[in-house]
Amino acid sequence: PSVIIKKLFMQGKIVTVNQEIDYETAEEIAMEFDVLCEKEVVVDVIEELLKEDEEDEADMVKRPPVVCVMGHVDHGKTSLLDAIRHSNVIDREAGGITQHIGASVVEVDGEKITFLDTPGHEAFTAMRMRGASSTDIAILVVAADDGVMPQTVEAINHAKAAGIEIIVAINKIDKPSANVERVKQELTEYELIPEDWGGSTIFVPVSAHTKEGIKELLEMVLLTAEVMELKANPNRAARGLVIEAQLDKGKGSVATVLVQKGTLHVGDAIAAGSAHGKVRAMMDDKGRRVKEAGPSQPVEILGLNDVPNAGEVFVGCETEKAARNFAETFIAQNKAKLLEETKSKMSLDDLFTQ
Ligand code: GDP
Ligand code: MG
Repeated sequence: PSVIIKKLFMQGKIVTVNQEIDYETAEEIAMEFDVLCEKEVVVDVIEELLKEDEEDEADMVKRPPVVCVMGHVDHGKTSLLDAIRHSNVIDREAGGITQHIGASVVEVDGEKITFLDTPGHEAFTAMRMRGASSTDIAILVVAADDGVMPQTVEAINHAKAAGIEIIVAINKIDKPSANVERVKQELTEYELIPEDWGGSTIFVPVSAHTKEGIKELLEMVLLTAEVMELKANPNRAARGLVIEAQLDKGKGSVATVLVQKGTLHVGDAIAAGSAHGKVRAMMDDKGRRVKEAGPSQPVEILGLNDVPNAGEVFVGCETEKAARNFAETFIAQNKAKLLEETKSKMSLDDLFTQ
């Protein structure tokens, strides 16, 4: 009441707490408050929905590391990722890579590693904003004949800001102009110091062309993951991130998600940002139909009613109704944010036209 009284007072109307006001005045005030309430309350609600209790250590089980490949353009990120995928025995048995879902699982000595295609900056930023980093380990690719370049530094800064472990792959060592020592020297400036120089960063010289060093690189990823003690509880509602999503004419909304905790099953109700639905079908990175996906597993899912943005969090819900509520809250929150942005923009414009 005091806020309403104050507002009316500012408009030159003196009212008491018991007084009736006319419909128009009430509406005018209500409109203003509607926006304010939506913004303040709804933003809290969605953050609240995403908040979680600390998990019991006893429920935690080892999970595969999630790895991305970063580095300057033309230093060999795509080639290296291809070489890694083809080094995979499972792939060869299945007759090569059948499908591209923006993520893939590689098996080395019976251990799994999940590779995400170098995330676009946008998705990367969105994931970080939600405080849920998608990646555990970054392989920083530096061409041995080119050395540290602007995007190398950018990648280092990104990884450090997100608290991601860095492993350096010095690529193109098959080239006569390759200079591994020079790359090591240059990276010391960014606090990436090789172990044999008294530092703690792992450097692996590789060639995506001859495949030299690839096996060792993968072993170093597993070793790093071991030290990091990556764990998750598989026995709970699934939760993770949207890696990419698009609309398919035949299949509808197709989303690649990375499960981070819990297990996602066909038939589960889920919400992902503004989208919700029931998982109708799931495909792994080899294009095989699967019934469930556990921690660190990327899967393509069908059944969402809309296309969520890359980087959004997805949550498994108890019921379809809960999933719809989540998505509707998310949409309302974004609308409120947009309104608030328009409002502040409008007042700025007002300022300039005066
Ligand atoms: P990206 O931009 O980082 O994804 O780099 P690409 O994988 O597209 O590679 C850029 C160029 O470097 C291509 O012409 C590749 O054939 C070449 N390249 C990549 N890896 C190697 C390597 O190990 N040795 C040599 N000699 N060339 C490589
Ligand atoms: Mg590339």
